Amino acid sequence: MSNIKSKLGSINYSSSEVGKVDMGTNDNYVVYINWDGFAWYYYELANSGGIVKTPVINDLIQKGVIFKNAYTGIPSITNPMQSAIVSGAWPNVTRNCYRYYDKKQKRVIQFRRENKAETIAEAAVRQGIKVASVHQFILENRGCEAGNADRPYITLGERADYEDRFDAAIKLIKGEAVGKGKSRIKLDYIPKFISIYMDDLDGLGHNNRTYGIPAAQTEEGRLCNVMRRLKQMDEKLCEFIDECKGVGIYDNMSFVLTADHGMTPYGRQDKMSDCYAKSMLLDLIGAIERGGFKTQVLSAGESPKKDTDIVLVGAGLQIQLSFTKEHTKQDLQKIMTAVLGKEYIGRIMEKDELAQRGAMDGFADLLISPRPPYSFKANSKEYIAKGQHDSLDETSQHIFSLMWGRDIKKGYNYTDRMYNIDFARTIAHLLKIDGPKCATGNILTDALI
Ligand SMILES: [Zn+2]
Repeated sequence: MSNIKSKLGSINYSSSEVGKVDMGTNDNYVVYINWDGFAWYYYELANSGGIVKTPVINDLIQKGVIFKNAYTGIPSITNPMQSAIVSGAWPNVTRNCYRYYDKKQKRVIQFRRENKAETIAEAAVRQGIKVASVHQFILENRGCEAGNADRPYITLGERADYEDRFDAAIKLIKGEAVGKGKSRIKLDYIPKFISIYMDDLDGLGHNNRTYGIPAAQTEEGRLCNVMRRLKQMDEKLCEFIDECKGVGIYDNMSFVLTADHGMTPYGRQDKMSDCYAKSMLLDLIGAIERGGFKTQVLSAGESPKKDTDIVLVGAGLQIQLSFTKEHTKQDLQKIMTAVLGKEYIGRIMEKDELAQRGAMDGFADLLISPRPPYSFKANSKEYIAKGQHDSLDETSQHIFSLMWGRDIKKGYNYTDRMYNIDFARTIAHLLKIDGPKCATGNILTDALI
């Protein structure tokens, strides 16, 4: 990829009438790319020690805006965070927090793709803008629809990796037939808002077998797999940009590349068994119970026994604690005293801070996140070099985010803390439309011309 710089060429930053809604001359295109599980530290690792694995991204950083302190929300789990990004609002608005103990229903509620807020695709459709989604499942029937020529949702089946999905996006902008089954479509125009979703980094980050790539046996191997795929995705991004130039719309295009969460390592780190291989949940429960509380770990749909004081709900890393009855400040203090100082405790978050971060009301009375690479899995299995992202740790919270193209500053380092929910209203601004109705995120004006 030595000729990447010349391949990318120079972007012509034409001036625009930001803020004015004039549909007659609205020739802006926005592409929103989501690389599920693209942690900030992956990017840093890929470009550390004199090794450059993302030359295309690096070049785009020179031509756009890199967000050095981009963060996601709570819980940093795919569906709630994908919903949060497209609606520009946290789970306190979207009402999807993946899983929690509902005190009124006395039952653990599990969410799938529920989202009470309008999505950016729905907002665009409402304002007469044509939209399309390539595998961005969170917009399926939430702005985009399989087989609908005005707002297609395009999929290629379960085996379609980043390469297939970029190829589908290329076909889409070239007006070629694209998609499998009922999602197959051929457009005679280019949608103004295109959302593209890829989950290669997430699968490899979890260290699951992903698109034929076997799981690694060590943390080093897990990171190698991620780095290798990140390099390939970087190269393919260049091809996609070239194709956009080829159809003559690149100067009118703005791009967002972001993620729903990062990835936190857990489990055995090397070839020999270690103290991280097994869950610390039993030890945590022991500590809480010695504080005088009866606990119960519940999964989706389950209800606590009558004598349970605290319900524990988790997904593998962080644990949500919910009291079944009234509780006092002293009760919380007792738990904190019992668990603080434990080697495996990473971060504890109380209700006030959870609310401040946009967590859904009732999500938890206390959230306990393990220090990596410890875990709070609800079984005694031995885990080997795995990754998960339901964590308050930087590795899960700090995400990669980049914008470039029309109306976006060139070579700007955005260092203020910002969140992925800020992109929805920013995208709407670039499309010269109103943002999603319930959006609470900011327009990233400092990143715009
Ligand atoms: Zn995800």
